[in-house]
Amino acid sequence: MSDIKIPLAGVIGTPIAHSKSPALHSYWLRTLGIRGHYIPMDIAPGDLKAALKALPKLGFVGVNVTIPHKEKVLGLADLITDRAALIGAANTLIFRPDGKIHADNTDGYGFIENLRQGSPGWTPSNGPVAILGAGGAARAVVASLIETGATEVRIANRTRPRAEALRADFGPKVVVHDWPRAARMLDGAATVVNTTSLGMSGGGEFNISLEALSPDAVVTDLVYAPLMTPLLQGAEARGCTIVDGLGMLLHQAAPGFERWFGMRPVVDDATRAAVLGR
Ligand code: NAP
Repeated sequence: MSDIKIPLAGVIGTPIAHSKSPALHSYWLRTLGIRGHYIPMDIAPGDLKAALKALPKLGFVGVNVTIPHKEKVLGLADLITDRAALIGAANTLIFRPDGKIHADNTDGYGFIENLRQGSPGWTPSNGPVAILGAGGAARAVVASLIETGATEVRIANRTRPRAEALRADFGPKVVVHDWPRAARMLDGAATVVNTTSLGMSGGGEFNISLEALSPDAVVTDLVYAPLMTPLLQGAEARGCTIVDGLGMLLHQAAPGFERWFGMRPVVDDATRAAVLGR
């Protein structure tokens, strides 16, 4: 009889059935030959604390965290990385052997790595970055852009106070624009990012004019269902370099996988195909 423990990880949220993370991590476990499992767990908000207490005892080495627990887990963690604290949310928990829960946020890392891979030579300091939306994902995007050298981050959000809050938290490099005039802030932008849910299957219609968009701009969308969003279609038609949002999901997962299972996975075409079920 072997006493080797098989490491377990997973994703907690509710609803969770739609998550692509199990397909991704299971693919990496399989191709790297690691004996481990990654499990989706539907956890109600009222059960979060009990779940985090029980999971390490059941053999879990960590979990990803998704809606609606990303903010609340910070109050239950023992150690919080600076970037998770700044963003105010965590997407990756590590259950340490000493019993402490370590919370990190890798969404911004995934966002930057996706752009670097999808548009070689891209850097945040190429010129102004225009961001549509100021929700939870936008916070991680703005934090990572400022950290990696962006000099001007323009933000427009339907609910303006959320954009103002980003300026208050991230400083004067953040410039808030009016949502009804969001199309104008695309003028001169080197990078354009949609962090709203507009353009998502079953979501609202993306109808911001791309008239002012330069063909030199790099355009990305956090929405990845569909992969080719209305923003990306319009930007491609104007000659821009486009980077879809699936890569962000794949790259944000890599640091957690490495911490839990001890090997750094690669994000390549085969990884994308596995997650898309192709
Ligand atoms: P969130 O916190 O709920 O924020 C939603 C954002 O969309 C807010 O800025 C909201 O504006 C805006 N919005 C929603 N409906 C709108 C409408 N009809 N008109 C104008 N603006 C509207 O959600 P989130 O967590 O930031 O996620 C946002 C999107 O990013 C989702 O589609 C999510 O799937 C995607 N995402 C992708 C990745 C990835 O790895 N690719 C990671 C995280 C998130 P208000 O503030 O005015 O409500």
